[in-house]
Amino acid sequence: MTAPSNETIVVKVGSSLLVNEDASLRRDWVQTLVSDIAQRHADGASVIIVSSGSIALGARKLGLKKGGRASLSDAQAAASVGQIALSSLWSELLAEHGITAAQMLLTLDDMENRKRYLNATATLEKLLEHRAIPVINENDSVATDEIRFGDNDRLAARVAQAASADRVILLSDIDGLYDRTPGSETEGQIIGLVEEVDARIMAMADGSTSSGLGSGGMISKLEAARIANLAGIEMSIISGREDYPLERYALSGVGTLFKASGNANARKSWLGGGLTSAGTIMVDAGAAEALRGGGSLLAAGIITISGQFDRSDVVEITDPDENIIARGLAEYNAMDCVKLIGHRNSEHEALLGYTPRSAVVHRNQMVLV
Ligand code: GLU
Repeated sequence: MTAPSNETIVVKVGSSLLVNEDASLRRDWVQTLVSDIAQRHADGASVIIVSSGSIALGARKLGLKKGGRASLSDAQAAASVGQIALSSLWSELLAEHGITAAQMLLTLDDMENRKRYLNATATLEKLLEHRAIPVINENDSVATDEIRFGDNDRLAARVAQAASADRVILLSDIDGLYDRTPGSETEGQIIGLVEEVDARIMAMADGSTSSGLGSGGMISKLEAARIANLAGIEMSIISGREDYPLERYALSGVGTLFKASGNANARKSWLGGGLTSAGTIMVDAGAAEALRGGGSLLAAGIITISGQFDRSDVVEITDPDENIIARGLAEYNAMDCVKLIGHRNSEHEALLGYTPRSAVVHRNQMVLV
């Protein structure tokens, strides 16, 4: 039993934990992980799974060399074969617990390009609201070298950021970060807690994976920890070799925990950081109060709009005295925003002629100033 929780957890599963030597899936083990996940889901947590394994699995099925990583076209072909089996595994096993699985295949561009980022976050939010479990992987069969994440560790951290998650758990064939002297043969001690991913910590990674199946390795895990840390999200690396890995971790605490940055607003600070705003939205006193209380910006509270911003541009939101209250990503371009001024959400579809968004600036895409 775990305590009731409303936290959002991203669980990333590495390739070597999912695929056997004979190209079959490690179904029995995945079943124990799904049981852990279902328990947390039943306790109220929202869970997102980032699952690797499509390339490793597809390569074994197609008989490709070097785990399907000899060339980009090998990897892409392997991924399309493996992904089908992977998705049905998750979907079947989650269904045994009455949970609906939802597949999302993402590319780097979906997380970096702000328009696509808004689409992906809106989809994630809707799925979690309906208690589905998104199962995410990189869209390896179309992603090319330039646009690939290449490893699911960083993808998991970016997804956690997009979903405003509370923690990321990386399940790996290694049980944490070891304190080893570079170049030395001997394994050091596992480091239980990392406050900051600095140069000393980075030097402990050697870039290899013990299985050679995934493309991750400790360097990408530490990079993921950096992304998570900056976004105010805790991250752990734990072993996925044993059954019921989440429950084992909850009981034993064995693994490496990377603390989130102490800055309360860190999670959203990257949103505003360095970006010049393309427009200003002035809101009435009631809306200003709602924003300060953590609400989204709704069109009903808007007084005026200035600037020629596009959807996903950064806008400043001010109160009636022109004090800046917040910055955030606009869900509509300036012209459509103007059409909506003062109108309730129920009227938006008729005014716009298309299915509207839930807010003009969503609270998750907003930083209070
Ligand atoms: N997206 C890759 C796959 O599904 C895995 C990337 C990684 O190893 O982190 O095979």
